[in-house]
Amino acid sequence: MSELQRFSMTINGKPAGTEYFSVLNPATEVPFAEAPEATPTEVHAAFAAAEAAFDVWASDDGVRRSALRKAAEVITANVDELAQILMSEQGKPLADAVGEAHGTAAWIGYFADVEIPESEVITPGAVAQVRIPLGVVAAITPWNYPLIQAAWKFAPALRAGNTVVLKPSPYTPLATLRAIELLQDAFPAGVLNVVSGGDSVGVAMTKHPVPAMVSFTGSTSAGKAVAAAVADDLKRVTLELGGNDPAIVLDDIDVAAAAEDLFWGAFVNNGQVCGAAKRVFVPESIYPAVADALVAVAQSVAVGAGDQEGVRLGPINNRAQFERVNGLLESAVAAGARVRTGGETVGDRGYFLTPTILTDVPAGAEIIEEEQFGPVLPLVPYTDIDDVVNQVNRSKYGLGGSVWSSDPNRALAVGRRLRVGTVYINGHAINHGPHVPFGGARWSGIGVENGLAGLEEYTQRQIIYGNGADL
Ligand code: NAD
Repeated sequence: MSELQRFSMTINGKPAGTEYFSVLNPATEVPFAEAPEATPTEVHAAFAAAEAAFDVWASDDGVRRSALRKAAEVITANVDELAQILMSEQGKPLADAVGEAHGTAAWIGYFADVEIPESEVITPGAVAQVRIPLGVVAAITPWNYPLIQAAWKFAPALRAGNTVVLKPSPYTPLATLRAIELLQDAFPAGVLNVVSGGDSVGVAMTKHPVPAMVSFTGSTSAGKAVAAAVADDLKRVTLELGGNDPAIVLDDIDVAAAAEDLFWGAFVNNGQVCGAAKRVFVPESIYPAVADALVAVAQSVAVGAGDQEGVRLGPINNRAQFERVNGLLESAVAAGARVRTGGETVGDRGYFLTPTILTDVPAGAEIIEEEQFGPVLPLVPYTDIDDVVNQVNRSKYGLGGSVWSSDPNRALAVGRRLRVGTVYINGHAINHGPHVPFGGARWSGIGVENGLAGLEEYTQRQIIYGNGADL
């Protein structure tokens, strides 16, 4: 029997798990705990439990509000434990893990309290519209923000009256498993279930007959597979997928004042953010100054294990991603790109790569056209802003884009031309909180998360012809 700590799935309010896989710390590459690999029987049991719990849970919004309020308190009371687990499996610095755990509570709290219109009149005295829950929701999350991404899904889904089966990434299952275990204090059995395991568990969930909806966050390739899988029985779906966001710098920018924000708009969470800036378009006239300023910020940032004092960036989360980012970097360099800073490992263990600024990247290079999802940022010179806008709008990805200028309205005029889900002026990957919807265009996804619009994704619009009834 393994010496490693074993985490449990939660099915129908009870711990579950029969087969296990180990989870590594990406800063050391050493396995430190085990998570269950859900069997088909366990996946089925989770959906059966969620289905059985649905009718009662769907019947009383007051109960749902109080349960979610309690859930937010439970997370807040356990922030330290959850953050330690999250840091160990994901790699992010402890302060960021603590921030994510607090954010998880804040999101749940928001969805507990958000006012949902009971009904909306369409024809006074005759026709109204209400929102009814869908049934069981299958929720699947990635490894970059496992805890808060889970809350982005289960909190609105539950508040809307659905029950949930959640599956975290096999790279980062532990904080989610522990959080859902703790949350059983807040919810009736079967309302919020969690199963863990590899991609095949996700596939089984999308093909299972019980869920009425799949809420998926992950890569574009997996998102397409999910869309195909749900087509069979027309499950509802939201897809929050990859991005290749541009940051577009205009020629009147105050380089010194903007450099820190521009850097962190790309390197937040080590670049492992769907909505981070993945390429920076810079006017040729100020290209050297912008490059120098970003290099200076990159060189001031401490990289190391998440539990080390002062560290701002941890390792890349897993070996496959580490190899992908290094591969993109190597092929850019082979094609003539210049590494202005970074591109180095740290120590002799762990998936570390120091923040890397690339200049002179040939047009069309994969690192410009595809999502790198790691700490490597190409700077792309331009002379004509129309070319940049066209290039962005032609991209398969359409998650977000930012425009940077000393004159915010001048930036906004460019921003409004971008066909993307979020436009930022003088910032990137900013998040003002759970009330703001988030989603992407084209290959970046379908539907939105967060805000009332995000909650509505978990509902069916129902039109009622009252014929004299009080609507
Ligand atoms: P991934 O697609 O490999 O995996 C995400 C989750 O889906 C995991 O739980 C995985 O086990 C599961 N999965 C994989 N294939 C599946 C399939 N065919 N059917 C069902 N489930 C399947 O993604 P990842 O590597 O964990 O995450 C990184 C990606 O996620 C990046 O592309 C990033 O941009 C994207 N992402 C998007 C958002 C957003 O809101 N748009 C947020 C975070 C991450």
